This record gives sequence, C-alpha cells and structure tokens, in this order.
Amino acid sequence: MTVLVRSGVGPLCAVARAAIPSIWRGKYFSSGNEPAENNPVTPMLRHLMYKIKSTGPITVAEYMKEVLTNPAKGYYVYRDMLGEQGDFITSPEISQIFGELLGIWFISEWMATGKSTAFQLVELGPGRGTLVGDILRVFTQLGSVLKNCDISVHLVEVSQKLSEIQALTLTEEKVPLERNAGSPVYMKGVTKSGIPISWYRHLHDVPKGYSFYLAHEFFDVLPVHKFQKTPQGWREVFIDIDPQVSDKLRFVLAPSATPAEAFIQHDETRDHVEVCPDAGVIIEELSQRIALTGGAALVADYGHDGTKTDTFRGFCGHKLHDVLIAPGTADLTADVDFSYLRRMAQGKVASLGPIKQHTFLKNMGIDVRLKVLLDKSFQLGHFPLQSAQEIKIKETHFIHCR
Ligand code: SAH
Repeated sequence: MTVLVRSGVGPLCAVARAAIPSIWRGKYFSSGNEPAENNPVTPMLRHLMYKIKSTGPITVAEYMKEVLTNPAKGYYVYRDMLGEQGDFITSPEISQIFGELLGIWFISEWMATGKSTAFQLVELGPGRGTLVGDILRVFTQLGSVLKNCDISVHLVEVSQKLSEIQALTLTEEKVPLERNAGSPVYMKGVTKSGIPISWYRHLHDVPKGYSFYLAHEFFDVLPVHKFQKTPQGWREVFIDIDPQVSDKLRFVLAPSATPAEAFIQHDETRDHVEVCPDAGVIIEELSQRIALTGGAALVADYGHDGTKTDTFRGFCGHKLHDVLIAPGTADLTADVDFSYLRRMAQGKVASLGPIKQHTFLKNMGIDVRLKVLLDKSFQLGHFPLQSAQEIKIKETHFIHCR
C-alpha cells in the first residue's frame, strides 16, 4: 500500500530520533528542557499527574491512548486537527486524485474477485470523511459498472468532532441522521449518492460481510510500547513525574521485565523497539473477516519493515512537538511496523507490500488523471490545483491483504 507522510515528517524525524538517547541519564531521561511557559499545565497533564501519583508510572502505550482518545479530554475527541489550520495534513486533504485512484483500485479489486452482489466499504479513522467522499464520487461516476451491486459505508471513528464533520461531508444534511450515543452504531444516515452509512467506535461492531477495508494514517496513532535493550535484558520505557521540575513528565525505565515484552521477536537485533499490540489485534480481525466473508484491505501509512527504532513523536501546528509537553494539544504518532502487520495476517490472507505510495499511485495512473484535471481546469479558465507541485507524493507505504 502507499502511505503518505504527514507534512514535514522527513527532516524532522531525524531530530525526534536523536532526542531521547542524547539526553539519557542513567535510568531516567527527560523529553527536553522546555522553558516553563512552553509547558502549560493542560487538563490532560493534570489528569495524567493524578493518575501517576495514584497508580505509578504509566507505559508509553497508556500515555498515547489517554492523550489521544480519552473520551473526556483526548486530542482526537473534540477537535479538527487536519489541514493547514490544524496540526498535520494528509494526502486526501491535499488532492482529490488520491481518493479517486483508491476508488478505482477498490472497483478493480471487486471485479477481480468476482463482482459480488453486495459489499461494505469500511474505513478506519476517516478524518474529515474527505477520502471516502472522493471514493464514493468515483463509484457514482462508474455507476454503470456497479449498478447491480448493493453498497453500504461503515466508518469506525472515536472522535465526536470528526464524526460530525464526516456526517456533514458525506450526507445530505436535509435528511436527519439517526443518533444513539449508547449504541455500538452511534450514528446512521444516507450519503449524498443514496448509500446507507453507519458510524461505530470499534471494528468488531461493524457487521460481517463481503467488505473492502481502508485504513489511511490510522495505524500510526495506535498506542505503542517502547523498549530499550539493557545488560539485564529488555526494559520497557515508562512515563513518570519529574521530581526536579514541577508539572513536568519524564521517561523512566522499568526496573524489571513487563508483559508487553512478549511482543518483541526472539531474534530482535535492534536496541530500541516499539511494539503495537492494538495494531496486531486489528489486522488479525481484518484478516479473519476477509478469510471468512471475502474482500480486501488497504492499509496506508508511513512506516518501516521492522528496522526503525525511536519513531514516537508529536506534531503541533505542522511542527515537531515534544511528546511530553502540553499533552492533549498535539498529535502523537509512531511509524507502523509493516513486518509485524504481515506476520499477524499470515496464514489467513495473502498480503502484498508494503510498496511506496509513489509507486502505487504511478501504477494506478496518477499522471494521466492529473493531466485530465489540469487540462479541464485550463479549459474552464480556473486552476483549482494551483500548481502540479501541489500533488505531493509522500513517503508513506501501502500494504494490501486479500
Ligand atoms: N484517515 C484520515 C484521518 C487520519 S487521522 C486522513 O488520512 O485524512 C486519524 C483518524 O483516526 C482520526 O479520524 C481519528 O479520530 C481516528 N482515530 C484515532 N484513534 C482511533 C481509534 N482508536 N479508533 C477509531 N478511530 C481512531
């Protein structure tokens, strides 16, 4: 699969990777020496300090989960962080071509796998709903091909704010949405092209059936556990309160082995690793569903093939952000380990990739589509794409299971 990198990730990534080891002191390492005014006491910081004071240091995975998706204060829950005004930008927000080419990819998969009479399009972490909107426009344009196929859309989203934006983007606002916060299907409606659409908080609540699954820049926000190799063996990195500086967090190493060590490969040669059990659970569920009821999954993210070490980082206002400063105000992310996803899918489905996004989009005909759009906009006397450079191809990767 192709993956698009969040803006600025390339050069900034090296800074993030260098930060932790260089300030390592004995068993403890801080995230940096930010002046107090850059370290505001956010409601999330207060919440985490109470938590640590009452139950002790927390894992990086617990920290990420709390900071990003805590139902009351999580970064993703009540804000729109995407786009130029936000903290990072993703490919679907840069150009419609990205979603259009994915739409064509889904149709060609559907044709190659025998043109089922019905399919579900399931997106994990749909952001503003832009990507699925572009895909559905292709489905409408190729309506003659899909005319006897019963399509439904299923969105897995934890963010109240983003689910509202998705509903605005995708549905005819005049038709009221059915809302039931207490139900696993917390919202239901009909898209502008008349397709039923439903929202869920968890993949396991999505009905089983022939499905095409899509996850674009979703796996990178799932919580990771971080480990460091020591003379005593693997030790997990935890987050504690800094006793030297008030209202500041710091990294510490666990004094003994912790359960998540089970996720490290026995022949691991790196000295720092990040493991993401939640990614394994989700890819396993996707693989089981595809093996049982048919379909395919496309995962696009920035990541590596089991080679990178410290990739945990934060983004705020399109700039790299210290992960321990002002939690709840910045996105937290870690590169996806595609070798782990492939291992978890093995034996259930065939997995292809990862391939660079650049290659995926070229293979899907991005050059031809771009030319058509540019010619059309010249004929109309306007230039919606501003310049061809706006189609930035980032270093994300695609992996595909079927
Ligand atoms: N796919 C979109 C948005 C990427 S940002 C794009 O490429 O533009 C990550 C998305 O995942 C957001 O919609 C966020 O609210 C959602 N998300 C984060 N953690 C989640 C979780 N545990 N379960 C479901 N959705 C989640």
